Amino acid sequence: MGKNWKNILKESITRPEQILEKFNIDVKPIKAVAEKYPMFVSRYYFNLIEDVDDPIWKQCIPSPLELQDPYGCEDPLNEEEDSPVPGLVHRYPDRVLMCVSNSCATYCRFCTRKRRIGKPSIVFSDDIYLAQIKYIRENPSIRDVLLSGGDPFMLSDEKIDFLLGKIRAIPHVEILRIGTRTPCTLPQRITPKLCRILKKYHPLYVNVHFEHPREITEESEHACGLLADAGIPLGNQSVLLKGVNDDPEVMKSLVQKLLKIRVRPYYLFQMDLVKGTYHFRTRVEVGLKILESLIGWTSGLAIPRFVIDAPGGGGKIPLQPNYILSINDEKIVLRNYEGKIFVYPQIPMEKEGNDFLLSSRSVNAVIP
Ligand SMILES: *Cc1c(COP(=O)(O)O)cnc(C)c1O
Repeated sequence: MGKNWKNILKESITRPEQILEKFNIDVKPIKAVAEKYPMFVSRYYFNLIEDVDDPIWKQCIPSPLELQDPYGCEDPLNEEEDSPVPGLVHRYPDRVLMCVSNSCATYCRFCTRKRRIGKPSIVFSDDIYLAQIKYIRENPSIRDVLLSGGDPFMLSDEKIDFLLGKIRAIPHVEILRIGTRTPCTLPQRITPKLCRILKKYHPLYVNVHFEHPREITEESEHACGLLADAGIPLGNQSVLLKGVNDDPEVMKSLVQKLLKIRVRPYYLFQMDLVKGTYHFRTRVEVGLKILESLIGWTSGLAIPRFVIDAPGGGGKIPLQPNYILSINDEKIVLRNYEGKIFVYPQIPMEKEGNDFLLSSRSVNAVIP
């Protein structure tokens, strides 16, 4: 038996001086950043770093560039305003995001909730959880509850059991989802006991969070295998990060490796406009090019949806490379992944009924 995850967490890297155990660098600039945006790296994740500035380093070690962001804002998705009760974001008609924890097994330098992580504005307690659950119970339009944080798996098994039990008891809640990075940053957290708890609450989906093929290790494969064996469908959310995964070959290797550990790529996020993350941001065309390099060239199952979470709280908006060259009443002219051109004839337009298909909203957007 390996060590229990709570003990492993006690050995985490939280002070910049600890980096010196492995790398000979000047920690002063790192200290200044960590004072504003705390550092927390699990020993497991730290051990994956091979070089100063490698893709793992960039994700978890503070960079002086975080203090030089000219643009970002603290809460670009306007989550605080869309929260009817603390920690609960109700933005879409039929589902809610329920934050249940402020901590993570490793703090990502590009975190969307950088404003909150490690310096909580909400102190989660049973009172808060019960207020969140009451809101869900009183809103029958909510059929999908997505637990997030922080990382929900930083809670104890007992607390997770309690929360899922309460939410599952609400008749109109059809599906439960959990977003966690622990299979990547602290795979020891995924235990047979946790899986026995989770599988009581099906249908339950888990979204994990891998950014780079080097994060896929024997340990993370084992963690994902335990979840998958508990009947939990696994998706992955990645953020497009400059110098980490903004490269078609790296991304292809990542998505293919994810399928091998039974995780299906779900979202690829354009970096949110979070204060302190400017140095990670890529131009939107980079994501479109990456998608183009995947679509048709590898398994359709491997291809995530590329989205921008609209600044100000508009929700996730999908982006696609353009495959439509023209469309009119009679035909649509398309290109395939290799650039070959194809024509597909349309059925005649009906007077009424399907003319919504050609409404400006659904079609103009994809014509250059
Ligand atoms: C991402 C998100 C969801 C879930 O969106 P899906 O597209 O259904 O995965 C729900 N609520 C909020 C506030 C979100 O940011």
